[in-house]
Amino acid sequence: MEKEKRTHKSHCIVLPYPSQGHINPMLQFSKRLVHNGAKVTLAVTCFISKSLLGDSGPITIETISDGYDEGGFAQAESGAAYMERFRVVGSETLGSLIEKLKSSGCPVDCVVYDAFLPWALDVAKKLGLVGAVFFTQSCTVNNIHYHVHQGMLTLPLSEPEVVVPGLFPLQACDLPSLVYLYGSYPDFFNMIVNQFSNIEKVDWVFCNTFYKLEEKVVDWMAKICPLRTIGPTLPSAYLDKRLGDDKDYGLNMLMPVTGVCMEWLDSKPNGSVVYASYGSFAKLEPEQMEEVAWGLRRSNAYFLMVVRESEQAKLPQNFKEETAEKGLVVSWCPQLEVLAHRALGCFLTHGGWNSTLEALSLGVPMVVAPLWIDQPTNAKCVEDVWGIGLRARADDKGIVRREVLEDCIGKVMGSDGLKEIKNNALKWKNLAREAVDEGGSSDKCIDEFVAKLTAS
Ligand code: UDP
Repeated sequence: MEKEKRTHKSHCIVLPYPSQGHINPMLQFSKRLVHNGAKVTLAVTCFISKSLLGDSGPITIETISDGYDEGGFAQAESGAAYMERFRVVGSETLGSLIEKLKSSGCPVDCVVYDAFLPWALDVAKKLGLVGAVFFTQSCTVNNIHYHVHQGMLTLPLSEPEVVVPGLFPLQACDLPSLVYLYGSYPDFFNMIVNQFSNIEKVDWVFCNTFYKLEEKVVDWMAKICPLRTIGPTLPSAYLDKRLGDDKDYGLNMLMPVTGVCMEWLDSKPNGSVVYASYGSFAKLEPEQMEEVAWGLRRSNAYFLMVVRESEQAKLPQNFKEETAEKGLVVSWCPQLEVLAHRALGCFLTHGGWNSTLEALSLGVPMVVAPLWIDQPTNAKCVEDVWGIGLRARADDKGIVRREVLEDCIGKVMGSDGLKEIKNNALKWKNLAREAVDEGGSSDKCIDEFVAKLTAS
């Protein structure tokens, strides 16, 4: 093979955990690196690469293996088995990819890896490369998990209120679920805590947040690791508009029903629609799905509801038909376009970090009904720290009831609305844009990273 002439300042391999919520921010970050003159290769697992639809723009895609090429995570015996096999096979195949790129004349300088895959740092260091970890969760959540890892927050919790340095006081139920429900999902707990297993060896720590959003905790964490805030990682068209026609993330694991959604939204009055989605991963209890469906119906607002194909059997019988006048149910939508639509009034979300940052950056008030991991803490921040929405609380059975959803949606959407929430939503929208705009805090961090890579 003829050697490619080196025309780029530096070359990064970017390695996301193979799920939509991790690929989106890391792909978007990659585009910013390319904009600053770096070359980026996105390494995805063989299994995921088969289902990715769309276009990665200036980013080259290469595959590695998680050891489950036929079925990915679903093929594994357990979460622990998946992570262990991914560590072993992933290390080998990532190393081979780096060697292959070296012999093709465009050697890799740096591995930017998802914090869920800390073994990638060992691969980078063994090959003499720069290592940068990318946290796809908030800095607040990372700080709590860091304290658990360090044994500074002992589990199970013994007090109903917890004080974590760098953070506001937290009730147990505001903590990430794997912390306050200690023992609930041991495999995931280990993965979350292991994010910090080799943090002292890493050269750069990136977090998908922005400085003003989490100022105090960013300052605190920056004292213990080389932390930089680089978010929010939304396509540029929704923020600073500096990256050409960068209108969407680019790679979808599910096909969005774009035309139908946008036409339906176009036909609705300004601020009249609740958009409801529980993200790419969550599997709702059938009882919870029913409560969400009837909660939307009872709100009396128009609603656009995303229910993935694999979840649709949990909807109440004839729900779609019976509510067709008010609602539209689709299997996947172009979420950013939806959130940016003038007809949107409120986002009912599980509080995944991408969804939270997207709504915040687009100024959409939220009702957050968190399910697990980081979502309860995101809900706490949305309601009490940033004041851009309400948390819909679950009952003793862990189910958020239709009346609670109706009440929260009504408060956010009602004609008297919650003025403060709307004002705050506008304030954070502007601050998010400032962070990525030229000279903003996140823009400067990305500049600094690429400049240092190029100089070394
Ligand atoms: N998303 C989308 N269409 C949908 C629902 C979600 O494009 O119908 C995207 C959304 O914009 C976000 C991601 O999927 O970027 C979900 O990530 P998040 O962290 O919110 O939740 P997760 O799926 O990881 O639980």
